[in-house]
Amino acid sequence: MSREQDDMLRRGIGMTSQRTRERLIQRLYEEGVSNAKVLEVIRRTPRHLFVDEALAHRAYEDTALPIGHNQTISQPYMVARMSELLLEAGPLDKVMEIGTGSGYQTAVLSQLVERVFSVERIKVLQDRAKERLVELNLRNVVFRWGDGWEGWPALAPYNGIIVTAVATDVPQALLDQLAPGGRLVIPVGSGEVQQLMLIIREEHGFSRRVLGSVRFVPLLNGPLA
Ligand code: SAH
Repeated sequence: MSREQDDMLRRGIGMTSQRTRERLIQRLYEEGVSNAKVLEVIRRTPRHLFVDEALAHRAYEDTALPIGHNQTISQPYMVARMSELLLEAGPLDKVMEIGTGSGYQTAVLSQLVERVFSVERIKVLQDRAKERLVELNLRNVVFRWGDGWEGWPALAPYNGIIVTAVATDVPQALLDQLAPGGRLVIPVGSGEVQQLMLIIREEHGFSRRVLGSVRFVPLLNGPLA
């Protein structure tokens, strides 16, 4: 990380007490997040810059918060857990994210992998997320305004794909865009019944692991201006 980038990330720290942040990291650790790099990146990423000022005082609670347009910034535990699952087998080069939202998960990922390709269907959310990442000098991210059900085929394959909204079924396009050995972390289901899944592209076919119940907003259809 550059000095400038490091300063930028640190500057946010003054705005909420360091203790509140430490408490969040401690909690994630106690809940079973064990990847030290993931915990360190969450510690230094200023989540309060990804929510409305009115909610900034709650930014280091382990909870999802509204970001407008009926969407939410993901719960820190989910961000940490999904990032950890992606990285479980080693470092990743190209990662596609579906559902940029506030850009918080994007910012976390961008500090853990080489390059992030982030797809969002709501233009205004995407524009705001882009600004935030520029402010934080996180430059290894490219954004696409489009439908996550289709992924981003022109730049495929990806070593990792993370979906931050719940899909009724695993989108075929995302399976198609996984590199050999590539990992897809995705909540699947509907309403109250949602399971976090890890799908890996093996030599022949795919392996699937179900990781437990989760709660996400739905993966919708088509881009929205
Ligand atoms: N990781 C984000 C979570 C945002 S909530 C954050 O922490 O802020 C889920 C996001 O997925 C929303 O921004 C929503 O607009 C987006 N989304 C839903 N369906 C989509 C689709 N088909 N394609 C792309 N993005 C989608």
